[in-house]
Amino acid sequence: MRKTTRKFPEARLEGIGACQGVAIGTAFLVDDPRGRVVRVYLPAEQVDAEVARFYQAVRIAQLQVQEAIERLQAALGAERAYILESHLLMLQDRSLGEQIEAFIRENHANAEWAVRDVTAQLLDVYAKITDDYLRERGSDIADVSHRIIKILSGSKMRDLNDLANGAIIVADDLLPSVAADLDPAKVLGFVTNGGGWASHTSIIARSLGIPSVVGVKNVAAVVRSGETIIIDGATGAVISNPSPETLRFYSEQRARQQQQQIFDIEERELPAITLDGIEVNLRANIELIEEIEAFRRFNASGVGLYRSEFLYSQAATGLPTEEDQFEAYKFLAEMSGRDGAVIRTFDLGGDKLHLEGFKPERNPALGLRAIRLSLVVQDIFRTQIRAILRAANQADGNARLKILLPFVSNLDEVREAKRIIAEVEKELRQQRVPHAEDVEIGVMIEVPAAVILAEPLAREADFFSLGTNDLTQSMLAVDRGNENVNSLFDPLHPAVLRAIKYVAEAAARMQIKINVCGEMASNPAQVLVLLGLGLKDLSMTPSAIPAIRRLVRSINMSAAENIASQVIALATPAEVHRYLQSHVPHLGAPFLTSAQLSKSTA
Ligand code: PEP
Ligand code: MG
Repeated sequence: MRKTTRKFPEARLEGIGACQGVAIGTAFLVDDPRGRVVRVYLPAEQVDAEVARFYQAVRIAQLQVQEAIERLQAALGAERAYILESHLLMLQDRSLGEQIEAFIRENHANAEWAVRDVTAQLLDVYAKITDDYLRERGSDIADVSHRIIKILSGSKMRDLNDLANGAIIVADDLLPSVAADLDPAKVLGFVTNGGGWASHTSIIARSLGIPSVVGVKNVAAVVRSGETIIIDGATGAVISNPSPETLRFYSEQRARQQQQQIFDIEERELPAITLDGIEVNLRANIELIEEIEAFRRFNASGVGLYRSEFLYSQAATGLPTEEDQFEAYKFLAEMSGRDGAVIRTFDLGGDKLHLEGFKPERNPALGLRAIRLSLVVQDIFRTQIRAILRAANQADGNARLKILLPFVSNLDEVREAKRIIAEVEKELRQQRVPHAEDVEIGVMIEVPAAVILAEPLAREADFFSLGTNDLTQSMLAVDRGNENVNSLFDPLHPAVLRAIKYVAEAAARMQIKINVCGEMASNPAQVLVLLGLGLKDLSMTPSAIPAIRRLVRSINMSAAENIASQVIALATPAEVHRYLQSHVPHLGAPFLTSAQLSKSTA
């Protein structure tokens, strides 16, 4: 691996630790959330060839544009081709080409990065122009830049796993689907400017066990590709160009963590029972089928949440077929241990994956997502239900798979979904396709309307699953992935705690089962409060299971109830944090980062 020839002093940044673990590697800057443009630092002997590669791409772009102009002229007449003619002029502009060449030579940059950087500077200038017509020309520059980058990098997206062994990705943001494709054996970790503890990219990082830090302001401006970088996913620390002492300190930390992982495995058979004999159910959240390995390693009693929408990022065509899904669900049914698996129907939209053919929305968190989308594109929903009902018939009995409906805000959505499920059952019966009937149907409680309507919803549902990530987002009106409001995203906010208590009591009154599948269930201090509120069925990121098992085995349920009754009476998040810090300091920060805590208690 190559290092920069320039040596910069150690720089320290801080963000939110998304996945615990220390990683020490080489920084790779990645330009866009899809991971298309990566900053590569070139050795001196490759610079001439890179310049030649750039000019070759410009020539190809010129030919492409020339051809397009001829096609347009033939079809629509000469005057319609003027926009593309301006693109051609730009591609022929010697001074622009020379600026990009100079950037490559001075910075030992790869051509993609140089094009992106130089044109971004130009775009900044254009954005400030007051004349509307001239300002609009900025979009032509962006277009030409995009064309050259596409030629340089090929039309395919760059596979971030091919960067180099020991790479740590540094990006403004990464899409959850891109994070889901990372191979932890190749990519040691990632750092992003955007994101929060409960954003889907962070959830994926925890599932894969990739150390990561998110919400690090300006990280892509401070860290350079090729530099040595350390990230500590427990504290949120990011250090570039570490001194020898810093390197030694973090190498020791990493060794200690590896030792802890061995203890975790040794303790996995111990029952999750409190000191006063109350059993707590520990299940796992799974996004990728391969994670079933981690699920087994940590000895979860079942899969409490399978985020089935991630099948979209894994399917070859973008749309998982009934057979793709049947195989995945059957595998889960067979492998998911005592309690089987809860298949959440596609939670597409929001900050997750998007369905081809739907325009990006202005406010996706409140948009056409999850159950709403399933009820609009019913074919996709029906196919999914067919696959689940068929798979539920496998292994030893129907109870092994359950259906969970995401983002319910209205009783009618549940009724409509149940009507469709009954129709699919009937169709399978008529077609004599082996399938299960009477599969349990659960409702996710993750928006305030569902909290308030918990009692009537309980009449429609077989069980509730508390999605504390979206619940926190929607109760507090705080975007779970927005770094500017990270310190406000707080599941221990008294409003969230009171909502949880309200739902837990409604479920108890109505005698339906309830579990928690949001990220609260992965944090020891938060779990203590959940247990005290009566929530004893928890589904979490698999790697959190050892710490939660240890917590359960170390407490009395009566003490947890006492703590919960105290914090529920408090009025501000800061008071809740202070209470927990003073009464159960050994559990660590109620959040996994000191950054969030210091802000909320300041
Ligand atoms: C939640 O919102 O808490 C949840 C479990 O679902 P997701 O994180 O996938 O939105
Ligand atoms: Mg959710």
